[in-house]
Amino acid sequence: MNKPVDMQSTQAVPLWIDGKHKPATSTRAGDVTNPATGRVIKRVPLCNSADIDAAVQAAQRAFPAWRDAPSLRRARVLMRFRELLEANRDQLARLITMEHGKTLADAGGSVQRGIEVVEFAMGIPHLVKGEHSEEVGTGVDTHSLRQPLGVCVGITPFNFPIMVPLWMFPVALACGNTFVLKPSEKVPSASMRMAELLKDAGLPDGVFNVVHGDKEAVDALLNHPGVKAISFVGSTPIAKYIYETASKNGKRVQALGGAKNHAVVLPDMTASAADLEFTADALMGAVYGSAGERCMSISAVVAVGAAADPLVAKLVEKASKLKIGPGDGKDMDMGPLVTRTHRDKVAGYVDKGVAEGAKLMLDGRGLKVTEHQDGNFLGASLFDHVKTDMTIYKDEIFGPVLSVLRVDTLDDAIRMVNSNPFANGTAVFTRSGGAARKFEREIEVGMVGINVPIPVPIAFFSFGGWKNSLFGDQHVHGMEGVRFYTRGKVVTTRWPDANAVPQGFNMPTLG
Ligand code: NAD
Repeated sequence: MNKPVDMQSTQAVPLWIDGKHKPATSTRAGDVTNPATGRVIKRVPLCNSADIDAAVQAAQRAFPAWRDAPSLRRARVLMRFRELLEANRDQLARLITMEHGKTLADAGGSVQRGIEVVEFAMGIPHLVKGEHSEEVGTGVDTHSLRQPLGVCVGITPFNFPIMVPLWMFPVALACGNTFVLKPSEKVPSASMRMAELLKDAGLPDGVFNVVHGDKEAVDALLNHPGVKAISFVGSTPIAKYIYETASKNGKRVQALGGAKNHAVVLPDMTASAADLEFTADALMGAVYGSAGERCMSISAVVAVGAAADPLVAKLVEKASKLKIGPGDGKDMDMGPLVTRTHRDKVAGYVDKGVAEGAKLMLDGRGLKVTEHQDGNFLGASLFDHVKTDMTIYKDEIFGPVLSVLRVDTLDDAIRMVNSNPFANGTAVFTRSGGAARKFEREIEVGMVGINVPIPVPIAFFSFGGWKNSLFGDQHVHGMEGVRFYTRGKVVTTRWPDANAVPQGFNMPTLG
C-alpha cells in the first residue's frame, strides 16, 4: 500500500487551502520530474474527495464576504498581485522551466501574457457595470446586474503552468467568485507560488485554493454540489468528458480542448527572398517553440502551388540549425519534452509517418544532448508530402514534428482546414489583401492570424477555438470571461405614488 505523502520533506508539494499550506489526506502521490535531467524533483499528492471537499468548503465560506467586497477593493488586490507577478517574473519562469522544460525566455513570455489578463481584470468595476432604463412603463424603471456565481474551478494542462490558470482566476476573482485551482500534476509548483503571491497581495484566506491530482480529484470537483462553474483546458477527449459530466451536474462549463493548427502559405510569400525569410522565421517559432507543446503551435503547413519547394527547403535549413538543450541553457530555441513517456510517444509518430509513406526531410529522433543524456530531448522533425489520411496529420502530436501538405489553390487549402475536426488557431501568409480577407471570412476556426503564426488574442479579447477545440459557448478572458463568471439579473422597479397604474390580474403591461 502507498504511504501517506511525507509533508515534512521539502520535496512534497502541499495543497493551498484557506490561505495556508495544508497536507493532503490522500495516500496517493505522483512524481514531478525535471524534463531536462529526467530526475524526480518533487512528489505531488493526488487528492481524494475529502481533500477536494476541504478546498471547496473553504471557498464556500469565503464567498459571501468576497462577493460583497466593492469591486474596486477586489481590483486593488489584483493590482498588487500584478506588481508581485512582475517582481517575481524570473522566479516564476524558472519554476516553469524546471517542471515543464521550455526555455526561460519562452517561460517569461508566457508569464507576461498571463499578467495581461490580470491587467484586464483590474478594470472590473467598469466591466460589470449594468444597464439602466428609466420610465420603461409609467413610473417604472429597469436595470440589469451581473453577479458572481460562487465557487468556480479551474483545471489546467501541463503546457502553460502560469498563463492558463491566469486566463481563468483573475477574471473569476474580480467578478466576486472564489476559486479552486487544480493544476496539472506534472507542473504543480507555479500555482502554489501564485497562491502565496495572492495572499501577499491581500487576498482574504479561502478566496483562492489549490488542490492537486488526477482523475479522482477532477471527478470529485465535477461532482461536488458546492461547485458552480468549471473552466477546463487540456486535451479534447478529457475536455469533452468534463463538459458532459459537469453539464449533467448542472454546472456552467467552458472546456477548451486540443488542436491541429494549419498555416496556409500562398506563393506570393515565397516569391521574394525577404518574404520567404519572414515566413520561414515566423513558422520556426510557431512550429518548434516550446517543443511544439502549445495548443496554438502550427503542426501543419499547407503550401499552395509554387510555394511548396522553396518553403520546404528554407524550413529544413532553419530547423536543422535549432539550438536544443536544457531550457535554462544559453540562447536555447527548444527545450525537452515534458516527460519521457510523451517524448517516446512523439518519436513514435515520426516512426508512423515514415511507415505511412510521408517524406521525412528532417529526423529529430537521434538527437543526443551531451550532459543531459537522461533528459526528454527530441530534435526537430519535418515531413513533406503528408496526406490528410495519415496518422501524423489526423492526430494532435504535441511535439516538434511538422507536416507539410501540398495543395493547388487557396480554395483547396481552406477546404482542407475546414474539414479538420480541430479548429483552435490558423494563419495565412500572403501579401494579398483579397486572399487574406477571403481566408478570414471563410475559415471555420476560432482564432485567425494574417501573417501572424500564433494568433493568441490579447487579454481584452477572448481566447478559444471552435469544433473539437472548445466545448461550451463562452471563450476565456475578455468580455466572454466576464460573462462566464457572472450571471445576469434584470430588476424592474415601481414606487407607489398617486399616478401609479393600478395592478390587476392580467399579464402586466407597463405602458
Ligand atoms: P490533459 O487533458 O491530459 O490534462 C489536462 C488536465 O486534465 C490536467 O489537470 C489533468 O490532471 C486532468 N486530467 C487528465 N486526465 C484526466 C481524466 N481521465 N479525467 C479527468 N481529468 C483528467 O492535457 P495535458 O496533457 O496536460 O495538456 C496538453 C493538452 O492540452 C493538449 O491537447 C493541448 O492542445 C491542450 N491545450 C489546449 C489549450 C486550448 O486553449 N485549447 C491550451 C493549452 C493546452
